[in-house]
Amino acid sequence: MEPLSENEIRASFVNCSKGEARRLSLPRGLAELPWQNLDFLGWRDQGAPDRAYLVAPYAGEPVGVTLRVPTIRRSLTKTNVCSLCITAHAGSGVALLAGRRAGAAGREGNTVGTYICADLACSLYVRGLKKSTLITRPDESLPLELQIDRTVGNLDAFLAKVLGDTTP
Ligand SMILES: [Zn+2]
Repeated sequence: MEPLSENEIRASFVNCSKGEARRLSLPRGLAELPWQNLDFLGWRDQGAPDRAYLVAPYAGEPVGVTLRVPTIRRSLTKTNVCSLCITAHAGSGVALLAGRRAGAAGREGNTVGTYICADLACSLYVRGLKKSTLITRPDESLPLELQIDRTVGNLDAFLAKVLGDTTP
């Protein structure tokens, strides 16, 4: 993705107040991030472990979503699969993240939940730049380009749900 500035990131959020978008903590060293290897920018809030953020190009514009980690205890022995990048992780490597829907639906308390790599580093797992905690990775026969397309497609579908965007 194209590198984003702090202002662009803060202005991109669609499901929180302007005040919250102004205050939320951004990843450190924005300029040094490996943007060329990122399909989206995702990070956990260092000061608030139940919060995560995701910013991705959507229909040509950066769209930012604030996410909450519901406090549900999960089995640490189970293998879980990220619904965006299809990387399998052991235990807590995948988190259920819930985003409030944009606009009126969100104000009424509607959220969209999905299982995502807990560190939101899907782009790096897909490219083999970061390894899952699993020693054996399920065979992935799909070429890298198609794995990236699949991740972006899954992400687009998630963002469409948050935005309430029904155009195909
Ligand atoms: Zn993932």
